[in-house]
Amino acid sequence: MANVDKHEEEYLHNMRHSCAHLLAAAVQELWPEVKLGVGPVIEHGLYYDFDLEHRLTEEDFPAIEKKMAELKAQGLGYEREEVSIAEAKKRAKAMKQPYKVELIETIEKTGSTAVAVEENGERSKEQGEKPTTVTFYTTGDFVDLCRGGHVESTKEIGPFKILSVAGAYWRGKSENPQLQRLYVACFATQDELDAHLAEMEEAKKRDHRKLGAELELFTFDPLVGPGLPLWLPKGTVLRDLVEQLAKKKEQEHGYQRVATPHVAKQALFEASGHLPYYADTMYPPMELDDGNYYLKAMNCPHMHVMFRQTPRSYRELPVRWAEYGTVYRYELSGTLAGLMRVRMLSMNDAHIYCREDQIEAEILRVMELHKYYIELFGIEHYYMRLSLHDPANTKKYFDEPKLWAFAEDALRRALDHSGLEYREANDEAAFYGPKIDFQVRFVGGREETIATTQLDFIAQQRFGLHYQDSDGGEKPIYVIHRAPLGTHERFVAFLIEHYAGKFPLWLAPVQVKLLPIADRHNEYATDVAKQLEKAGYRVELDDRQESVGKKIRTAQLEQVPYMLVVGDKEIEAKPHSADGSVGARQVAVRGRDDGDLGAQSIADFLTRLEREPNPLA
Ligand SMILES: [Zn+2]
Ligand SMILES: [Zn+2]
Repeated sequence: MANVDKHEEEYLHNMRHSCAHLLAAAVQELWPEVKLGVGPVIEHGLYYDFDLEHRLTEEDFPAIEKKMAELKAQGLGYEREEVSIAEAKKRAKAMKQPYKVELIETIEKTGSTAVAVEENGERSKEQGEKPTTVTFYTTGDFVDLCRGGHVESTKEIGPFKILSVAGAYWRGKSENPQLQRLYVACFATQDELDAHLAEMEEAKKRDHRKLGAELELFTFDPLVGPGLPLWLPKGTVLRDLVEQLAKKKEQEHGYQRVATPHVAKQALFEASGHLPYYADTMYPPMELDDGNYYLKAMNCPHMHVMFRQTPRSYRELPVRWAEYGTVYRYELSGTLAGLMRVRMLSMNDAHIYCREDQIEAEILRVMELHKYYIELFGIEHYYMRLSLHDPANTKKYFDEPKLWAFAEDALRRALDHSGLEYREANDEAAFYGPKIDFQVRFVGGREETIATTQLDFIAQQRFGLHYQDSDGGEKPIYVIHRAPLGTHERFVAFLIEHYAGKFPLWLAPVQVKLLPIADRHNEYATDVAKQLEKAGYRVELDDRQESVGKKIRTAQLEQVPYMLVVGDKEIEAKPHSADGSVGARQVAVRGRDDGDLGAQSIADFLTRLEREPNPLA
């Protein structure tokens, strides 16, 4: 089974790589003066970088695709030719391909096949051995420097589509010329390509930056600075609800809450090791009269010093301390993106202080929390990544082989017991211990780490964390860092895209919207709104002088789960109950997802709302 998958994967890779030649060949036929960069295979397809005076736009795509289709139909092969490095340079120069000359020179100089590194996105196995030859592949009139891995004939290349063009610096360095990068999707079948294109369209619609603005969830302001989100009232509802959920679940799981300042003296971060090692990701210090202070980039150091102030006995462990802690990280401005990469983040943080014999059970409890959230939010595309150390790399990892073996086993057993799907990744651990990353696939295909659970061997040494055991001896305390809901910023971004802005009732910033038909119905609508607010719901009244049709469209765009239309009919309708109480009043109910639900009494409507899932109830 695994072999078949591997074979298919390799075939798909070769096909996409062969398609890169096709793309470059087509561009060269259309613009013979083009200078070629690199063209690696990426997820879902490939890209190729071109240095071209003509500015490529979407309008050029059909012509390039047509040329590619023509070449493909000719059933051209990929003829291999191995030549000496000197000969290769001569040829690349003759072909007026300076970037290829540079690539050949890099191979010659470093011995690392930099081309392969770039093309495959991974280190070449031949790294270190200086090659004396390189290979060229010829497809029709097109020649490219290449390591190989092709299909037999261009006819074998599956359906493709040029997706976009973007600027890209040669070799990713801003001092180099900017090339034009064409992204192409390429699949084995038309169905797969169509499905991918449809998903890309859907991802565009769901982009949390777009929906965040449309639904008035968050914004940015140049006066505040990039990467520093400003949460609008509706977005703050989402934050608060997620936080309430975390607090409720953590209370059920035996956590206590703590609160710590956002700044601390330099010495704290020296004790933790963040300084000097993470100085680059921290904001520069504030120089005060009693020394330097830093904004915290992690919550742990504050908690550890608070925890160690009291002597601990084996009986009181584990201790679980939680804080939705706000941390500050100095990310480069070029890397900031909506809520996904920011400079201030609020983390669903907690530290579990436990004995060695409690590690596995505590990790399992964290995984149980993950399972609960995965089910609650209906997260389908995810896996746990068990990030292990590399025993050969004693420089990077804390050198305690026995401890690593024990800890990695404990995490693995906890994952086995949890029943969560997981994959192991070597050489991905933190230097101070193994970790479990919660990897989620977003609509559109990108995979992001939403949360991490880390076991920490080092905190005990750096902060002198220990307890008195039953025999009176002193034993080290292990720390588990965990944040199943990640950060508000990343998790809300995920929720926005996951639900495409259509939040379930319990999460919806506005749950019910009152839509009076005319001004004379406003008073009645206000009374109904008050009644619903009293019952604990988030309600809005649309009393603009607009048609009810327009009000419904607005509420639909805002993705409000329920709309209540009130007019003469509803006001004059006889209440169901004889006492004529407010609860017996009539409203015409419209559901965001179900459309017209007919006239109901407010009491019946409230019953309907109460029946919907609410994890906070
Ligand atoms: Zn090739
Ligand atoms: Zn921590």
